Amino acid sequence: TLSDRLGAILTNLRGKGRLSPQDIDATCREIRVALLEADVSLPVVRAFVARIKERATGAEVSAALNPAQQVVKIVNEELIGILGGETRRLQFAKNPPTVIMLAGLQGSGKTTLAGKLALWLRKQGHAPLLVACDLQRPNAVTQLQVVGEQAGVPVYAPEPGNGVGDPVTVARGGVQFGQVKQHDIVIVDTAGRLGVDAEMMAQAVAIREAVVPDEVLFVIDAMIGQSAIETAEAFRDGVGFTGVVLTKLDGDARGGAALSVRHVTGAPIMFASTGEKLTEFDTFHPDRMANRILGMGDILSMIELAEQHFEAEQAEEMAAKLVGNDFTLDDFLQQMQMIRKMGPIGGLLGMLPGAGQMKEALAGVDDRDIDRTAAIILSMTPQERRDPKIINASRRQRIAKGSGSTVAQVNSLVDRFFEARKMMSSMAGRFGLGGGRPSNR
Ligand code: GDP
Ligand code: MG
Repeated sequence: TLSDRLGAILTNLRGKGRLSPQDIDATCREIRVALLEADVSLPVVRAFVARIKERATGAEVSAALNPAQQVVKIVNEELIGILGGETRRLQFAKNPPTVIMLAGLQGSGKTTLAGKLALWLRKQGHAPLLVACDLQRPNAVTQLQVVGEQAGVPVYAPEPGNGVGDPVTVARGGVQFGQVKQHDIVIVDTAGRLGVDAEMMAQAVAIREAVVPDEVLFVIDAMIGQSAIETAEAFRDGVGFTGVVLTKLDGDARGGAALSVRHVTGAPIMFASTGEKLTEFDTFHPDRMANRILGMGDILSMIELAEQHFEAEQAEEMAAKLVGNDFTLDDFLQQMQMIRKMGPIGGLLGMLPGAGQMKEALAGVDDRDIDRTAAIILSMTPQERRDPKIINASRRQRIAKGSGSTVAQVNSLVDRFFEARKMMSSMAGRFGLGGGRPSNR
């Protein structure tokens, strides 16, 4: 997996200031291999990796992560963004029925999908109708009828015994039938060929022009691998489509087809099919797909752990300071910001005995207050922040002016700080946390 390949780089020391070109190159090389192994087409891999490089170059290094982890994090975000950038729901027609046409190669899973989609929509309270326009294969109509029965949805098909009908006529008839019978959705199943074929495209275009679908869903087998890009291009240019459905994701394909198709056509991937049963079907989840393509599960949990661990370390550092009575206004501010970010439980306070009291000391503090407090503290000199007792009356006026607040607000902040520090210190002494010299203020 990618984790194994990135092994050496992933154990680097963290926090080096800025990602070095070597770090980025090394990580991108491995990501490139992972993408190719996932069957993403080469031109797409190239474009994607170039984009990652650009974004990673010059990025601040997170203090919590090592460079490789950070590049992986960027890749993951970018991949999810691309796969899901424009995830959208089915487009319903203003005047029903909504017509959904399925297109794709033979065996891609169109007929199965027709049943899945019909069942899924029926469960949501719709009344879909299936229309059998694959008159190419002898059993195609029967197959759709079986699937329709399983889904509890009627199927419109050419009359038996009338010879081989014309798929365009059937499609038109199906939509009219749907209208009359008050079906709000009509799903048109079409014929495919084993490979891209001019006659198939012409037939699909003729059906599309006859029924003017609200959605044309391009159905593509995830196992198709590297050829996904050509197939997608052919259908984009031949028929055109508004959305993509990826099938056979229950197989061992890594799903690179998703990225290729998305990249080439820009059309959103809307659904994913994960088995032969009609219920094995879901809306598309970009995060799951990103994980599948890169096999980054382990790395991502490592990254999450590293970030959590880092926050805990920071909190511990702060606790040590408090107990040692080295608590400064900078710490006070940082603490307030931490509380705002994580909530009081996640912050340092939750780690100390008697936390409730301390929380009360900060209780009057709301978001606006924190911003004002930050402004006041940042208007002080570093020395004043370390040792606020040196702030005299004229400095208080200056600080008030510099921070757009009143002298009373500055006074109140300084008082609150001393109170908090005294309380921390006495609490530390009481609970034997050590270092709790009694405060002389
Ligand atoms: P069509 O030619 O595009 O209509 O494709 P079909 O719906 O007839 O599907 C072709 C074959 O793929 C059938 O044997 C289906 O049972 C199977 N199939 C369709 N979707 C899936 C899927 O998501 N997973 C698996 N494992 N098989 C599928
Ligand atoms: Mg079929």
